Amino acid sequence: MSIYVNKNNGFEQAEPIARECPHCGAHAQLLPIATPSFEALVAAHPTHVGIAFRCAACSEPRFLRAVVRSIDAERVELANLSEVERARERFQYGYLPASTERLLRETFECYAAACYNAFASMARRSVQSAQVALPSTARDRWLAAVRDVLQIAEVDGDTARALEAVLFGTAEPPEIGATEAAVLIEVVKDLFYQVYVRTAKLKAALKMRRFFAGEARKITSIERRRESG
Ligand SMILES: [Zn+2]
Repeated sequence: MSIYVNKNNGFEQAEPIARECPHCGAHAQLLPIATPSFEALVAAHPTHVGIAFRCAACSEPRFLRAVVRSIDAERVELANLSEVERARERFQYGYLPASTERLLRETFECYAAACYNAFASMARRSVQSAQVALPSTARDRWLAAVRDVLQIAEVDGDTARALEAVLFGTAEPPEIGATEAAVLIEVVKDLFYQVYVRTAKLKAALKMRRFFAGEARKITSIERRRESG
C-alpha cells in the first residue's frame, strides 16, 4: 500500500491502516499525527522515514517506519510500513509485590527489545527475587511447575534443560536465542500467573463462597428458631 506526502505537505493514504495496538490490544486504525514534510524529504533524500500515528482505540502514540520509494516534483511516495515498537507482554501486574513487579516488567521489556540474553538474566533475577519472600520449599514447587509447562508444551529435552538452567541454575546462565526465548517468555508468564494471580484469585473466590455459605447457614438457623418458637 502506498502513502504520499504531497507538495503542500498533505498526507495521503490509499486506504486506512489498522494494526494490533501494543498498548490496548485492539486491532485499531492508525491516525497520522506527525508526518514528514515534503521539503525536508526533498532536501535530505532519505531511504527511510518515520511517521507518528495515534491508536484510534486508545489514543496512545504509535511509531512506524516507511521506505521512501520515489521523490518527484509533486509528491513523495512511501511504502512498506513497519512498526518500530514491538508489542508489550500483557500481565496482571497488580497481583505482584512491588519489587517483583518492577523486575518482571523489565524482564518483559528485554524480551520486547529482542535482547534475549538480557531477558534470560532478568527472568532468573525475577524468580530469585520473588523467592526471597517465600518459604524455602518454594523453589522445588516452582521447578515442578516449570517442568510441567515444558512437558505440556512438548518442549525438546535440550531446550527444556537450558531453560531450567536459566531460571534455577547457580552457574552462569546458558546463552539463548529467539527460539528458546519464545518458549521462556510463556514459561515465565505462566509461572508468575500460577504463583501470584491464580493463587490470589482462588483465595478471593473461596473466601467469598465461605462467606455466603456462612450467611446462608445463619438465615436457615433464624428461620428454624422462628418455626420452633
Ligand atoms: Zn491502542
